[in-house]
Amino acid sequence: MTTASTLAAPVLILLAPPGAGKGTQARMLEETFGFVQLSTGDLLRAAVAAGTDAGKQAKAVMEAGDLVSDEIVIAILRDRLNDPDTRKGVILDGFPRTTVQAQALDTLLRETGQKVNAAISLDVDDAAMVTRISGRFTCGTCGEGYHDSFKAPQTEGVCDKCGGTDFKRRADDNAETVTQRLEAYHAQTAPLITYYDDKGALSRIDAMGDIQDIAAGLGAIVKSATA
Ligand code: AMP
Repeated sequence: MTTASTLAAPVLILLAPPGAGKGTQARMLEETFGFVQLSTGDLLRAAVAAGTDAGKQAKAVMEAGDLVSDEIVIAILRDRLNDPDTRKGVILDGFPRTTVQAQALDTLLRETGQKVNAAISLDVDDAAMVTRISGRFTCGTCGEGYHDSFKAPQTEGVCDKCGGTDFKRRADDNAETVTQRLEAYHAQTAPLITYYDDKGALSRIDAMGDIQDIAAGLGAIVKSATA
């Protein structure tokens, strides 16, 4: 069950297609504001790795680039929101992805008199996303993100940030699956831009530029939405 204190904190949503950098930006906002990045993709990958019932059901769907059922994702999110660290505020990265999920979130927040402070759309050029995603990998120790073409570690095989040598590539980060993930985004998630615009909670940012510039723009939006 979700308690009042769990959600008595800012709630920010990053809306973006795969590859737009929402994970990177969510981690930067986490560092700047002390909010907790809450990625349903990470939670699902952890469930798959742990072999839970939800993970078993989600595995093939994720590998195909489709959306996991609303029921599973909403249950996972609700559980995570019960953890005390979320009282600092949350940045939802990859949730909601459907109107049903957005409505479920509204219901959860309404129970505690809360609302979404801001839903921020990271606007990108789809064609660039396939290249971005196909070359990306992360440090298995600290999670720092890298890319074969745009951001290789300074010393090959060694993480710039923590010195780790164990790198990971996601099973669904390949050209075929990315195309399906982009289609899922446009069909099922992009309508949420209108959903939050109608509530007066939408902001948009051009996310094709420099990572630090985007972070600064996002920071300004978050500051005014949580003031
Ligand atoms: P992400 O790490 O956000 O790119 O998510 C990876 C995959 O996990 C997606 O392609 C979906 O299969 C699944 N997923 C993550 N979040 C959700 C969600 N809110 N609703 C449905 N499926 C999700």
